[in-house]
Amino acid sequence: MNKFKITGVTAREILDCRWNPTVQVDVWVNGEILGRADVPAGRSTGGHEAAELRDKGKRYQGQGVRKAVKNVGDILGPAVIGMDVTDQRKIDEKLRQMDGTKDKSKLGANAIIGVSLAAARAASLAVELPLYRYINCNAHILPVPLFNIINGGKLTSNDLDFQEFCIFPIGAATFSESLEIGNAVYNELRKIVIKKYGKLAANTGDEGGFATPIVKVHEAMDCMVQAVDRSGYEKKIVYGLDCAATHLYDPKTEKYTLEGNKMMTGELLDYYKALIKKYPIKTIEDPFSEDDEEGFLRATKELGIQIIGDDFFCTNPDRIRERAPKGAANALLWKFNQIGTLSEALDAAELSYRNSFGIMVSERSGETEDPIIADLVVGINAGQIKTGSGVRGERTSKYNRLLQIEAELGSQARYGGMDFRAAF
Ligand code: PEP
Ligand code: MG
Repeated sequence: MNKFKITGVTAREILDCRWNPTVQVDVWVNGEILGRADVPAGRSTGGHEAAELRDKGKRYQGQGVRKAVKNVGDILGPAVIGMDVTDQRKIDEKLRQMDGTKDKSKLGANAIIGVSLAAARAASLAVELPLYRYINCNAHILPVPLFNIINGGKLTSNDLDFQEFCIFPIGAATFSESLEIGNAVYNELRKIVIKKYGKLAANTGDEGGFATPIVKVHEAMDCMVQAVDRSGYEKKIVYGLDCAATHLYDPKTEKYTLEGNKMMTGELLDYYKALIKKYPIKTIEDPFSEDDEEGFLRATKELGIQIIGDDFFCTNPDRIRERAPKGAANALLWKFNQIGTLSEALDAAELSYRNSFGIMVSERSGETEDPIIADLVVGINAGQIKTGSGVRGERTSKYNRLLQIEAELGSQARYGGMDFRAAF
């Protein structure tokens, strides 16, 4: 007899932080333990992500998830009922089988990942361990947060081409200190943007960074540098960008458009070279489009900083297996819903470590209050997290959960992991 038997699976439609519907799943164990998970959604999505199922039609501009919810109730749930909830791999395999497509489009990746994550949560409760420790009994690394403090691209309504302008407090001594540093810089930046661009400039975008009406990348960088200098933490901070360059690329002309200029891969690379010469930028995500392998190879070789693949890998073990050994990128952006089950996302992490890659665990721009990535980033010892700035409840839920974990780990907690600073 299974000790931790799944006895019920239910789902419902809830809201994400953009007033779009999303899926919430409940997994019951032995009729009394409840594991619950919410599914986040991207806006700046890659073309190779597992496919969400949306209802289409008029309701919620076609974004409803009633079909996905029904698939959990009618198909995915009944398929895993009776299974041992601690058998995550078997559960995920069963979910994949029930769908049968490569991109999980039949039943919906949003339905499948919901069941997968809720099962993991229920399992951790069943064995009475925090989720991060259920994932990994040696979990002890608190991540260095990459705070996205100026939003651009698809995450807001200004004309900045790059999507995320970030500070990376690698010199903090602890995770809690990193939050204090982020707060100091954020507040200095607020004063700077109000003075320069007026009070509307301090409104925030999807991930809580300022949605300031800046057009030029250099101008945004200058504002950040000024804020960091005024905060007095300049020795503890380096900078990061998510260029989300898939959305700057036109496959027809094979050119990128940046600030109105058309650029080939080599020209954009030269632009990055000049940029990182001027500013201490140490991590760049998606500097090139999702299928511009040449761009990623050259960036990794010639820029000498962390090059993260988001759309480029889509947390997909097959894409990592093919591209990482060639030296295209040197870090993975880890988003579980890009692949659609927890086990496959864990495989993506394992493959990345085997290729000596770094891993940055990431939120989606359409988040809920569910803090699950906080447990997962500690669980996989990734040492880096990207979950927006320290405002908006769907972002603070992650930071607050990490503060709890930091307190639980006490003297065992290690900020960033071994030799983290040296890596930057
Ligand atoms: C990103 O591109 O890194 C991101 C977090 O945005 P989204 O969730 O919209 O893909
Ligand atoms: Mg990205």
